[in-house]
Amino acid sequence: MARYRDAVCRHCRREKQKLFLKGDRCYTDKCALSRREYAPGQHGQSRKKLSEYGMQLREKQKARRYYGVLEGQFEHYFDMATKIKGQTGENLLSLLERRLDNVVYRLGFAMSRPEARQLVSHGHFTVNGRRADIPSMLMKPGMVIKLKQKSRALDKFKTVIEANASRPVPGWLELDRENSIAKVIAVPAREDIDLPVEEQRIVELYSK
Ligand code: SF4
Repeated sequence: MARYRDAVCRHCRREKQKLFLKGDRCYTDKCALSRREYAPGQHGQSRKKLSEYGMQLREKQKARRYYGVLEGQFEHYFDMATKIKGQTGENLLSLLERRLDNVVYRLGFAMSRPEARQLVSHGHFTVNGRRADIPSMLMKPGMVIKLKQKSRALDKFKTVIEANASRPVPGWLELDRENSIAKVIAVPAREDIDLPVEEQRIVELYSK
């Protein structure tokens, strides 16, 4: 499974926005963006105004990096989004939001999306009673996600679940914290997705 292996804090610095890719560290003053609020690289501190294309590209990269998907996968999501009724940009975010790794993160079983992806790959969850270890698996209304009994007993999960006990769960998911079982009750709408991404710019970029 291909994935990005370089330093992820560079992504936040490039987008000039916290993407919360490192869990706890993102909330401390060790966050690389708090310490160096400019883009990485030789020209990172130049103040060049972005072109229209540049702005569209940045929005696409931001969305891609939030969800940790590679370019080809992102294009695939865009294609799928164009085939669904409604606004393509909103459909795109809704599809990305329904990835199993994102759902695990939203439910508070992981401190970041990259961590959620790893936990899913390691087989800690079931979907509808079956082992689910594919991070990109698309969640649909009615599906039941469960943290395995054996995994719940691990210190790792006890700590994360406790740390996230007060983190709100989005309205399209229903969580039984006691038993670490969740159900997808709807398809997420744009207002359920709290990401500062201008999805219309992504649509413009791909429509060229
Ligand atoms: Fe981004 Fe977190 Fe790194 Fe800060 S610590 S730059 S929010 S990944």
